[in-house]
Amino acid sequence: MNQRDSAWPRLNALAAEQDVSVALLQEARRPTSALDGWQVHPPIGEQERWRITVPGRYRAADGTLKPTRRNFASALASRDGVVVPREPTELHDVVDGEFACSHPGQFAVGDVAIDGGPRVTVISLYGIWDRMLDSGTMFPEATLHRAISDLTPVFQERANDYVLVAGDLNLYSYSDGTVWGRRGMTVFERLAAYGLETCGPFRRDDEPRLARCPCPDPACRHVHTFLYQSKPTNRPHQLDFFLATPALRERLRDCWADPDPHWPLHSDHRPIFAAFDL
Ligand SMILES: [Zn+2]
Repeated sequence: MNQRDSAWPRLNALAAEQDVSVALLQEARRPTSALDGWQVHPPIGEQERWRITVPGRYRAADGTLKPTRRNFASALASRDGVVVPREPTELHDVVDGEFACSHPGQFAVGDVAIDGGPRVTVISLYGIWDRMLDSGTMFPEATLHRAISDLTPVFQERANDYVLVAGDLNLYSYSDGTVWGRRGMTVFERLAAYGLETCGPFRRDDEPRLARCPCPDPACRHVHTFLYQSKPTNRPHQLDFFLATPALRERLRDCWADPDPHWPLHSDHRPIFAAFDL
């Protein structure tokens, strides 16, 4: 949602166009008012939960400590009230054996109940940037691995045949042939150990290859989902993915990115969609 207030009315429009029942959101700012027809989690009234509160401070250029600027969170939005949220507790406060989170606001989890269908657990996941102490280079895999650790009891539940993870993983350099790429790929590898594999969006056979994709794959199937600062001259990347368990992947009907060519007007990320027969 690119931390934009205008992302909420945009969600409304996209949901109508693409027939969306559940939206997994990242970099979402707290809505300023109730949203007609939508159930939103975290609750709109709980201001503190619309921030990533760990790390809680950053050091400004003048050396002083200031409160985090990450005034956004991962969120779930559903129409028809079908999602039952699961609430993690910040790691240092959690009761032993209960559901914890290292970076409150990094992910949002809920169970979707479907009449006559399976329970589907949906997870909106965001790759928070860490910064190298020496070079200042940024990397997201460390915070993603913390999230995977937090989510392990969810992934391993016996009742969880149907799990969907979606989000802006911020894994820029995966498979670009550098050591950063290999480190980024560990996130996908670790999720695969829980049965979670990418189910899209992939480039369709009749679509041209993504120009300037950093990956070395001659059969690259990446789809453009991110444009830094929405500037057309910047290199296109795919940072946004759906990953699903085998049973859920079998139910996948289609997966695609927003067909609107003007998507960078609304966000630096392109919305992605998945449809399942449940
Ligand atoms: Zn590629």
